[in-house]
Amino acid sequence: MDEMDLLIDLHKPAFRQGPGGDAETKRAISLSGLSGRPGLKIADIGCGTGASTIALAKSLKADITAVDFLPDFLSELEKRADAAGVLQHITTLAASMDGLSFEPSSLDAIWSEGAIYNIGFENGIRSWRSFLKPGGILAVSELTWLTQERPAELNEHWSREYPEVATASTKIAQLEANGYTPIGYFVLPEHCWLDNYYRPMQENLKALLEKYDRSEMARSFVAAEQREIDLYEQYAAFVSYGFFIARRLPD
Ligand code: SAM
Repeated sequence: MDEMDLLIDLHKPAFRQGPGGDAETKRAISLSGLSGRPGLKIADIGCGTGASTIALAKSLKADITAVDFLPDFLSELEKRADAAGVLQHITTLAASMDGLSFEPSSLDAIWSEGAIYNIGFENGIRSWRSFLKPGGILAVSELTWLTQERPAELNEHWSREYPEVATASTKIAQLEANGYTPIGYFVLPEHCWLDNYYRPMQENLKALLEKYDRSEMARSFVAAEQREIDLYEQYAAFVSYGFFIARRLPD
């Protein structure tokens, strides 16, 4: 048993593996200008069990490649997409997001909710750009400071856990510097964290402790998750996920 087993057991039963919401995915789709376009090819990178993939498939009827490096999540995604009647729009791909082999200029859109941080925002937007057609859409959600100043405790936590955390203006400048033009931005509201992510996770945390006989590893894993939840509840005014929608500029 290692920490990856704990992560899979915690997140596989959940509808989402990170903050987000169907209404917010639809809002990003609306800002992207993709609605109503036939025959779209989209990759949903770091899709988890597929909350956004299924929302995209329902809204756009596109040809979607759902990418995650955990096959356990992809098999769950397939079950859920089947139950939602959209499996015919989705192909799953077990692959790491830092070594993807889509054809150059082959995708109309790259979607990634709460996942690009795994390879770093700037590295991700740079390395994925070539897969997009010129004019193609990048839609990513990313941990973002909501204010210029914030409490030291919060600042220290996220600067340690994710040193690339920054304000929206920094992220937008990175998009502009890397061949994109930003076309939309909004902040995920609190219910995307609390109702859609942390509350269901807290239920699973209890079950996880029992499953692993309250082992030291399980207790320290659960304590770290709980600390993140406590910090969010205390400081929700200062940090959230920003949803960034941008268009790839021609070379
Ligand atoms: N997009 C989903 C959502 O919003 O519910 C999942 C977000 S979850 C925070 C991050 C996802 O990225 C997980 O499903 C994880 O397995 C996946 N992931 C992490 N590192 C990865 C990598 N190097 N390549 C592909 N997927 C990765």
